[in-house]
Amino acid sequence: MVGGGAAGFMAAITAAEAGTQVTLLEKGREFLSKVKISGGGRCNVTHACFDPREFATRFPRGESELISPFQRFQARDTVEWFEARGVKLKTESDGRMFPVTDSSQTIIDCLVGAAKAAGVKLRAGCGVERASRPFSVLLTDGETMNCDRLLLATGGCRTDAGGKLAVSFGHTLEPPLPSLFTFHIATPWLHRLAGISVETVEVAAAGLRERGALLVTHTGLSGPAILRLSAWGARELHKLDYRFPLLVNWLPSFRPEMLAACRAEQPARLVVNTPLPPLPARLWEQLVLASGIDRETRWARLSKAEQRRLTQQLTRTELPVTGKSLNKEEFVTCGGVRLREVNFKTMESRVCPGLYLAGELLDIDGITGGFNFQSAWTTGWIAGHAMAL
Ligand SMILES: Cc1cc2nc3c(=O)[nH]c(=O)nc-3n(C[C@H](O)[C@H](O)[C@H](O)COP(=O)(O)OP(=O)(O)OC[C@H]3O[C@@H](n4cnc5c(N)ncnc54)[C@H](O)[C@@H]3O)c2cc1C
Repeated sequence: MVGGGAAGFMAAITAAEAGTQVTLLEKGREFLSKVKISGGGRCNVTHACFDPREFATRFPRGESELISPFQRFQARDTVEWFEARGVKLKTESDGRMFPVTDSSQTIIDCLVGAAKAAGVKLRAGCGVERASRPFSVLLTDGETMNCDRLLLATGGCRTDAGGKLAVSFGHTLEPPLPSLFTFHIATPWLHRLAGISVETVEVAAAGLRERGALLVTHTGLSGPAILRLSAWGARELHKLDYRFPLLVNWLPSFRPEMLAACRAEQPARLVVNTPLPPLPARLWEQLVLASGIDRETRWARLSKAEQRRLTQQLTRTELPVTGKSLNKEEFVTCGGVRLREVNFKTMESRVCPGLYLAGELLDIDGITGGFNFQSAWTTGWIAGHAMAL
């Protein structure tokens, strides 16, 4: 098995526990290096959504292909799998699941321990340079190994090296692009709000719309609503060179009567000092000023035109996005091995019998929240089972 990440480990353990002789080859000095840094060092293992169809809807690429794999190994199975090996997971209020220790090392120790217990031969610092069929694998140190079945779980194809083994067996790569990124916005008043978060906003760009929490950063906007928009819009936003207008509705529950009520109930108060709940006071202040309303304006004096501008600013702020940054907590590649070239009942290649593929190497990516690891656990588990038959 090539690739000592989440998918490679799950496949190796599953096949070895079923009695197959398995060697796991990892080019890096450490196994599971992405698990280590994942979820800010806590590893967001999966998401507490236990309906396979519903779970699959969180994948901008791979939704229909993943429904039946999730019916065989889904988030609940992941929870049970780790629990059976001594690792308890907990669920946060937004559905993300982490080890109760809040440490990704717990997951690494569990996977490495389970692999050793099942008899997997673990070889780190052992990159696969070339491979050919029937399977012969040339390692970077010049050694050659032979095997009956070969799994590629080499991760995302951000660099040319990423998908080169799959391509050498005749597979096609969908072009790699980032998914899950934050937006650069240079609007000065927004920068003054760095650190502020809003629980529910609606963001729209390039014909897509997302709802969720939003975080103002030093460079622009982040948070689940933005990351989801970036995932669903990965190809579209790339075509726009990450330069596009973003519409933000800061208060999706807004109704014009809310402003009328403020006028009636607190006519003498300064507009700038009386935010509509649940908007943070600092954000409200900037939205009022960005609407061209004077700091000294009281509700009783707010003109019809000013009300219109404030409504517009609250529900349709247009912000010019000028670039992107990778999200620090989690990022994935959109693109990878074309999905119709793989049989999702077994994860076997349709192009090269005996070759199996799993994890982020495939053109599958999920939104943020533990979905990407689940797809690695699921495809790894299915491949491991099939390889052991
Ligand atoms: C900073 C960060 C945080 C993340 N946090 C989360 C999170 O909390 N929750 C979540 O669901 N997802 C998260 N993700 C995404 C998640 O890490 C990936 O979806 C997942 O790791 C994919 O698993 P994989 O096994 O397919 O690939 P990888 O984990 O990338 O593993 C592939 C392995 O193959 C090895 N390899 C490649 N080529 C060769 C070769 N030729 N020979 C030998 N070995 C090779 C690589 O060195 C690597 O170790 C995060 C990603 C990043 C970058």
